[in-house]
Amino acid sequence: MTERGSLIVLSGFSGVGKGTVLRLMMSRYDHYAYSVSATTRQPRAGEVDGRDYFFKSTEAFESMIERGELLEYARYVDHYYGTPRAYVRQQMESGRDVILEIEVQGALNIRRMVPDAVLIYMLPPDAATLAGRLRGRGTETDDVVRGRLKAAAGEARHIGDYDYVIVNDDAEQCAARLNGLIEAQRLRTARN
Ligand code: 5GP
Repeated sequence: MTERGSLIVLSGFSGVGKGTVLRLMMSRYDHYAYSVSATTRQPRAGEVDGRDYFFKSTEAFESMIERGELLEYARYVDHYYGTPRAYVRQQMESGRDVILEIEVQGALNIRRMVPDAVLIYMLPPDAATLAGRLRGRGTETDDVVRGRLKAAAGEARHIGDYDYVIVNDDAEQCAARLNGLIEAQRLRTARN
C-alpha cells in the first residue's frame, strides 16, 4: 500500500517569492503536487486558468462553498480564495505531498482540520525587499499594493502559529531548504 502523502501549507507575505521557490522545488522533485486554488480575483498578465488559479465569478465560488467542494477558503483583500478538496484528497492518497500556497486564515483552518499538516511561513530577508518586489511586479495598482502590505502586517501576528519559518534570501537555496525541511518531516512522520 502506498504511504499517504502529507499536507504542506506554505504562507508568506504577498510578493515574498513563494511561487518562484515552489516552481524551482517542484521542477527538481516529482513527489509534490501543487494544489491550484479557486479565486474570484482577476487573472494577472501571464496567469493561466487551471494552472495558476481556477478563476471564478463570485456566484460560482459561493456555489462551490455551498456544495462543500472546498477544503478551506478565506477572503483576502476583497476576494475569495479557496482550496478544492477533491484534488488534495486524491493526490495525498496516491502518496504525493500536497502543497497549499495559502494565507494565514486558511492555514489556521487547515491546522484545525488536519492536525498533522506542516505549516511553513516564508519571510523576505527584510521589509524593503518585500515592498520593492511587490511594486516591481508592476501588475498591481498602488492601492492594491497598499492593501497587500497592510494584510502582511496583519499576518505577521500569526507567524508564531506556524511550525517553521524560512527566509527567502535566494530562491535556489530557499527551494533546497524547503525540500530538506519537508523531507525531514516525512521521515519523522514515518517513524512515529
Ligand atoms: P495572490 O492574489 O497574490 O495570488 O494571493 C493572495 C493571497 O491568497 C496569498 O497569500 C495566497 O497564498 C493566498 N491564497 C491563494 N490561494 C488560496 C486558497 O486557496 N486559500 C487561502 N486561504 N488563501 C489562498
